[in-house]
Amino acid sequence: MQQGKDPKKRFLKISIIPALIIFLLLAAGALGADGRESAKYIFLFIGDGMGEAQVRTAELYRIGSGAGEPALSTFPVRGSISTHSADAAVTDSAAAGTAMASGYKTNNGVLGMDPSRTKNLTSIAETARDRGMKVGIVTSSFLNDATPAAFYAHRPSRIDYYEIGEQLIDSGFDYFAGGGHLPEQRAQGKSQGSLRTRRKKGDTGCSAPGPGYLPRPARGKKIIAAVCARGHLPYEMDRTAGSPSLAELTKLGIGLLDNPDGFFLIVEGGKMDWACHLNDAAAMVHDMVAFDAAAREALSFAQRHPKETLLVVLADHETGGMSIEEGITAAQLFPVLSAQKESSESFTVKVDRFRKGQQRTFEGMLPLITDSFGLHSLSESELVELRTAFAQSMLPKEQRKRDREYLRRYGPYEPLSVTATRILNRKAGITWSSFGHSGADVPVFAHGAGSAIFAGEYDNTDIARKLMSLLHFP
Ligand SMILES: [Zn+2]
Repeated sequence: MQQGKDPKKRFLKISIIPALIIFLLLAAGALGADGRESAKYIFLFIGDGMGEAQVRTAELYRIGSGAGEPALSTFPVRGSISTHSADAAVTDSAAAGTAMASGYKTNNGVLGMDPSRTKNLTSIAETARDRGMKVGIVTSSFLNDATPAAFYAHRPSRIDYYEIGEQLIDSGFDYFAGGGHLPEQRAQGKSQGSLRTRRKKGDTGCSAPGPGYLPRPARGKKIIAAVCARGHLPYEMDRTAGSPSLAELTKLGIGLLDNPDGFFLIVEGGKMDWACHLNDAAAMVHDMVAFDAAAREALSFAQRHPKETLLVVLADHETGGMSIEEGITAAQLFPVLSAQKESSESFTVKVDRFRKGQQRTFEGMLPLITDSFGLHSLSESELVELRTAFAQSMLPKEQRKRDREYLRRYGPYEPLSVTATRILNRKAGITWSSFGHSGADVPVFAHGAGSAIFAGEYDNTDIARKLMSLLHFP
C-alpha cells in the first residue's frame, strides 16, 4: 500500500505543514496583531569603531583569559553593513548614527538632518517613543556625542553640544546614562547647559549607580540623566571601584524601562573608538569586554522574554584600520595585551608630568614604560623608535615640528604613548594603518525575535528600516 494515498495521512501532512510554519514563526519571534513579526523589547548595541578585527581581537583576548567566547560571538544571526556617508567614503559617527537611526544617509558632521541641513529625519527611537514604548540611551562616551545624539537630536553640526543637550531634555526619552558635560560648553560660557542643569538635581558625579548617583532612580519618572562630571566614563582598564560599568548602567536601564508596552534601549560602547584612534588595542579590548558584559545583561533579560526580545549588536564604522596577523592565537595575544596596565590616555598624563620634571632622560622614563606596558624585552630598533618618540614628547607641544613624517608616525597624539602601544600591539600580532576611521564594512550580530532579517550584506540605512519593520505596536 502506498502511504501517500492514505487520506488520513495526507490530511495529517497537509495540516502539519502550516502548523509547523506557524510554530517556527512563533519560535523565531512574536507575531504582532496583524500577523507580522515584531519585537516588544529591542536592544540596539553600538560598538563605536568596532570592525571585524576588533571583534576578533576581543574573542582571542577573552578566550586567552579563560573567560570563553564573548556573548556576541554566540549570536545565531550574522550580517555586515556598508558604512559610507552621503558625502564621503569614510563616515563619521554623526552620519553613521543618523543613517542607522533614520534610514537616510547624510553628510559627515550632520546630526539627524538631511544633507541640505534643512529637513529633520525621524529616528527609530522617536518612533518607538511615539508608539508608547519607553526609550533609553546608555553610553560610555558623553550623551551629547554624535552616536547617542543621532537618536534624539537634529542639528546641522554635531558640535552644537549645547543645543544637542537641550534636545536631549526635550526628547521625552525615559532613561539616559553616560557622560554629559563638555569642556566646549564651558569655553562658550554656557556652563548652565541643559545637562548640567539636570546634574544639579542630585547627581554627585561619576559614582556607582544607586541613591546619590541618579536623581531618584524611580520607575515611571521621565528623563533620568545619569551623567558623569568628567564628561565621559573612564576607559574600562582605568576604571576604579567608584565608577559605574556599562553593564551596571544597562542593568539599571532595563529595570527602569521594563513595562508592558515595551522598550527600546540603545547602548553605546563609545570609547572603543577613542582607543582605536589612539591605536591602543588593550584599552579597546577592555572596553569591548565591558561592552560584551552589558550585552549579557540584555541577554539575561531576553531569556525571561525570549519571544518578544530582539538584540542587535553592530558598529557604526571601523576605526584605525586595525588588522590581526594571520594565525595569531589566543595564547599568543592574551599575555601581551594583558601586560598593559593602563590606557594610553592615562600613560600620557605621566608623560606630561615627566616633561615638566627636572630629570628628562630616556633612561629615567624607561622604567615607567616597562611598568605601564610590560615591555620587558625590547629590540634595538624598538628602542630607537621609543627614543625618537621620547625626544618629541619632551618638547613643549608648540615646539614640535608636525611635518608629514611626524603625523604619519604619531597623528595628533602623544608620540611616546602611541609608539609604546604600537610596539606592544605588534608583539600581539596587531597592526594599525591609521589614526582615523576606515571605510570598511562592519559586522552585525542579532539574537531573538525577528533577528533573521539581520542576516546578509546590506547598508547601514537598512538597520533603521529593519528595526522599523519589527517595531511593536502596543
Ligand atoms: Zn571616531
